[in-house]
Amino acid sequence: MSLVEDFLTSEEELEIVQAIREAERNTSGEIRVHIEKTTNLSHYNRALEVFRMLKMFNTKEQNAVLLYIAVEDHAFVIYGDKGINKVVPANFWDTTKDVIQQQFKQGNFKQGIISGVLKAGEELQVHFPWQVDDEDELSNEISKG
Ligand code: CA
Ligand code: CA
Repeated sequence: MSLVEDFLTSEEELEIVQAIREAERNTSGEIRVHIEKTTNLSHYNRALEVFRMLKMFNTKEQNAVLLYIAVEDHAFVIYGDKGINKVVPANFWDTTKDVIQQQFKQGNFKQGIISGVLKAGEELQVHFPWQVDDEDELSNEISKG
């Protein structure tokens, strides 16, 4: 049994993938979720490493965002690409972080991820609305470390 399966059933995983699809219906931004046990890097640096590993820089508008979660460390990072950082204030992800934290604190792992994904989508939508020629540039599958 892999680590992620300890925390998420395959049904729950599917629900998260659905949430990503739903979020991406309203924004051209791309959202990915990466879950792993722990890291010996700082969580921020590891999120950046995963972002690169998943080639998340490869979006037209540079508007991909990664929700990185280190389960054992009880830590997560929201890492957005530079296309996003260029047009938003520094505290842009705070509301999304709060939403996730609230659920995680209550032990609602799956719901925290889903709420975070949907919230991130809403935030992205303001600056990067969905467009007719939208492509699903990055996979919606959960990535596991
Ligand atoms: Ca897209
Ligand atoms: Ca996608």
